[in-house]
Amino acid sequence: MTRRKTRAIGLMSGGLDSTLAAGLLKEQGVDVEGIHFSTGFCKVDHRRALGRGEDRADPRRLRNRALAAGASLEIPVEIVDVAEEYLREVVLRPRHGYGSAMNPCIDCRIFMLKKASEIARERGADVIFTGEVIGQRPMSQHKAALRIVEEESGLAGSVLRPLSARHLAPTPAERDGRIDRDRLGDLTGRSRTPQIEMARRIGVEDYPAPSGGCCYLADQNFARRLRDLVKHTGKEHIRLDDILLLKIGRHFRMTADLKLIVARDEAESRFLQQGAAGRWVCQVADGRGAVVRVEGDPDEEQIAQVASVAARYSRHRAEERVEVRLKREGEERLAGVRPAAEESAPGRLI
Ligand code: SF4
Repeated sequence: MTRRKTRAIGLMSGGLDSTLAAGLLKEQGVDVEGIHFSTGFCKVDHRRALGRGEDRADPRRLRNRALAAGASLEIPVEIVDVAEEYLREVVLRPRHGYGSAMNPCIDCRIFMLKKASEIARERGADVIFTGEVIGQRPMSQHKAALRIVEEESGLAGSVLRPLSARHLAPTPAERDGRIDRDRLGDLTGRSRTPQIEMARRIGVEDYPAPSGGCCYLADQNFARRLRDLVKHTGKEHIRLDDILLLKIGRHFRMTADLKLIVARDEAESRFLQQGAAGRWVCQVADGRGAVVRVEGDPDEEQIAQVASVAARYSRHRAEERVEVRLKREGEERLAGVRPAAEESAPGRLI
């Protein structure tokens, strides 16, 4: 009787490690499929949505890296949108806390493995794998964290980590021979050299620089804004659109319920104007300045302050008096204001 091919489903971020993990399994004849969870916190996804000229000029910078990795290994990769659930269950309510920024890495891994395990069950896959390397990341990849993640995702002892497998207890698929343990890796620690050698051997040529920097949640600036949003909006009222705005522009907190967002370039100006229904959006009248969007309902004095910020972030910042156009759903005003000086800018930069 011929044995059915072993089927493996893995978490694919598009980074080198998960690509190599998939590659090691494919190399030994396993039928491999990648799952990429779209959480709403990926920097490349955001750059793609923003469509800056320099990125559009080099589309490789905007590629979904997991799909690119799948293409280079010739394995299918599916993108699964989990943004809403991920925000509520993981980002805003992590049971294991945050890393150095607002990165709930342990809860994130638990969430993704649970989802992957549901998908694997539906599709009859034998093995679930990840690209984790023991000791590579301080919070989520030491042995104790790997154990917690497995236990809480209902996969105790059965997650295959091909890159570090020979340092870990054998999973059921290794014990019964569906996976050849001798052909898996024995990597540990933070050095990237063995991965780069392995990539050369497997024939993986095109992979992103090993920065681990694609996740907004691990970014200190983003974390400061997210903490501010949680404090002033309340977890239960935060929507995905609020999160989207945290990735754009400079943010000034004026009062508990009033915030300004100042675009830093044309792409951000375009983005802030879209979906601004019900909010004031302003810019110097001749258009030679940043778009400023107001989150909240300013009074007359605050509207003048907003206009002075728009004047400050314009080509006219050194002038005495600048004309600023303010618009809000069918309403339009012109205000003549003095550009805000740095020390008198309303609110605190967050
Ligand atoms: S860095 Fe971001 S994507 Fe990676 S495990 Fe942590 S929270 Fe999840």
